[in-house]
Order: sequence, then structure tokens, then C-alpha cells
Amino acid sequence: MKLIFLGPPGAGKGTLAGQVSAQYKIPQISTGDIFRDAIKRETDLGKKVKEIVGRGDLVPDELTVSLVQERLAQADARPGYILDGFPRTIPQAEALQGFQTLDAVINFTISDDLVVKRLSGREICKSCGAIYHVTNMPSRVKGVCDKCGGPLYTRPDDSLESITNRLEVYRKQTEPLIQYYGQKGLRKDIDSSRSPEDTMKQIEAVLGRLRKPGR
Ligand code: ADP
Repeated sequence: MKLIFLGPPGAGKGTLAGQVSAQYKIPQISTGDIFRDAIKRETDLGKKVKEIVGRGDLVPDELTVSLVQERLAQADARPGYILDGFPRTIPQAEALQGFQTLDAVINFTISDDLVVKRLSGREICKSCGAIYHVTNMPSRVKGVCDKCGGPLYTRPDDSLESITNRLEVYRKQTEPLIQYYGQKGLRKDIDSSRSPEDTMKQIEAVLGRLRKPGR
């Protein structure tokens, strides 16, 4: 199953990609995670993208595409994968089409108001990347990951200024992909304004239909 998770920041792509990855045993490939890891480790890539990611702007297409192409060539991605946060522009989508055949694009729909509320309380585990929210989805012990005991932190690009910019960038550069994948017959819209459990049920229903023989 080769899937794309498309949607604005805060729609729940990362949370749900983690769950789908565990359940269907396919890797979650998050370009945001790859960039954050490079920034943390202060690699050449990390140094190049640190400011861009901090502002909430997009990393140049060419760089992002070659990174994803390399990642998808690894053995674990051969049977399938979830691309979480890629593609984010029409040129990225067109490049991807040149080397991959997709099964579906899950399009997460949600209002701007809710996005801002979700992102402004988001917390991430420094060790395993699990995602929490201070009021909607708190960890059992404040500041500590339920899954691995690692420390939780707030992403530097989850400041109000950067959130507003990320939303604007999404509307301008990523939203055209909704129509792009609709025209290709790959797009499956799901309502991600409710709980992660509810959203997961909708995704399972879509994936169940994909797996039916003859489709
Ligand atoms: P979110 O969906 O919450 O905004 P991500 O973790 O997907 O965050 O991405 C964080 C940042 O990484 C983006 O704001 C952008 O700077 C960079 N980034 C991630 N994916 C891409 C991509 N496909 N193209 C360009 N930049 C990207």
C-alpha cells in the first residue's frame, strides 16, 4: 500500500500515520521528521534547512525530492509506505509520479480555527516522536512520554507566528494538490476534525475498500 497523507499542519497526519504504520506494518516517512532529525544532529542538511523550517517556509523542492527518492529506494519501503508531509507542492507531486505509483491519497480536512488550537498545545517526545496535546491528548505524567518515558517538548515552529505562516504556505502551495489528486482519481477525503479514533475508523474504511480484490 503506497499512501500519501495530505492536509494542513495540525490535521493529525503525523498521529494517524504512526497508527497506520504500526497496524499495516508499512513505514511512515515524514519529511518534517527527517528535517528535524538533521537539524538536531547538526548535519549539512540540518544547517541548510534550520532557518527555513523554523519560519515554517518550505524547503526547496529539489532538495526535498532527492531526499524522498533516496528514502523510498530503501528495502523497507518496497512493499508500501505512508508519505506524511510529502508532496507539498505540484512540482514535488510531479516528480514523485516519475518514480512511484500510488494507491491512494488520504486528504485530511479540518478548519483553520481547529488547526491553530491543536498546534498551539502540541507536545512531541524528544526520544520517540510520539505526539501529545496539553488538553486534547495529554500524556499521563506531565512532560513525560507514555510510550517510552522520554521528555516532551514544544516544536520551535509551533509558535503562533510560524503556525500562521505554515497555514498560509499550505493554502498557497499545498492546497492545489487536493484538485491534482482528485483529477487522478486517487483522493479520499476524510474529516479529521474529530478524535484520532474517529479519524482512524474513516481511514480503515478507505483502506479496506482499497484492499478488496479486483480494485
Ligand atoms: P506540519 O505538517 O506540522 O507543518 P511537518 O513536520 O510536516 O509539519 O514539516 C515541518 C517543516 O518541515 C515544514 O514547515 C517545512 O519547513 C519542512 N518540510 C516538511 N516537508 C516538506 C516538504 N515536502 N517540502 C518542503 N518542506 C517541507
